[in-house]
Amino acid sequence: MNGKNLVVADDIVVRMDYTLTLADGEIFDSSAAEGPLEFLQGYGEIIPGLEQALYGMVMGEEKDVVLTPDVAYGEYDPEAFELVPTDAFPQGFPLEPGMSLELFDEDGDEPFEAFVSEIRPEGVVVTFNHPLAGETLHFHVKIIGLRPALPEEIDHGHAHTPGHSH
Ligand code: ZN
Repeated sequence: MNGKNLVVADDIVVRMDYTLTLADGEIFDSSAAEGPLEFLQGYGEIIPGLEQALYGMVMGEEKDVVLTPDVAYGEYDPEAFELVPTDAFPQGFPLEPGMSLELFDEDGDEPFEAFVSEIRPEGVVVTFNHPLAGETLHFHVKIIGLRPALPEEIDHGHAHTPGHSH
């Protein structure tokens, strides 16, 4: 299957080269460094604005997509910081600024994502802002693979790429 007659649509697994540049011209990341992205279209595996922009694209097609924070990683919230006592983390837990954490609130069983902002003597400052919150993102993308998703992938709501474990 070479994807010749396919277009990006729901239930299609898309493989794509990309470069992500921030408003100041800094290249934040790219497939050249990280390898191509592979994902199941239509299931929110990638940020909403980017997913939306890809519908209808064909093999080999390239596109520039500019995403404002509302369709990328959200607005930056200066209030969204919290000091967590160091002993709330397992002993020897490798904490590093920028790393993402899965936190659970008092009664919730749904984990939510937070990021280590700063490590202080009195505790760890975590933020609920994604590192790219408030940023306008400039993507250059190129579709390099299209295939129909397997029933199992549609079931799980994500692509099963090599090395994927479930
Ligand atoms: Zn799976």
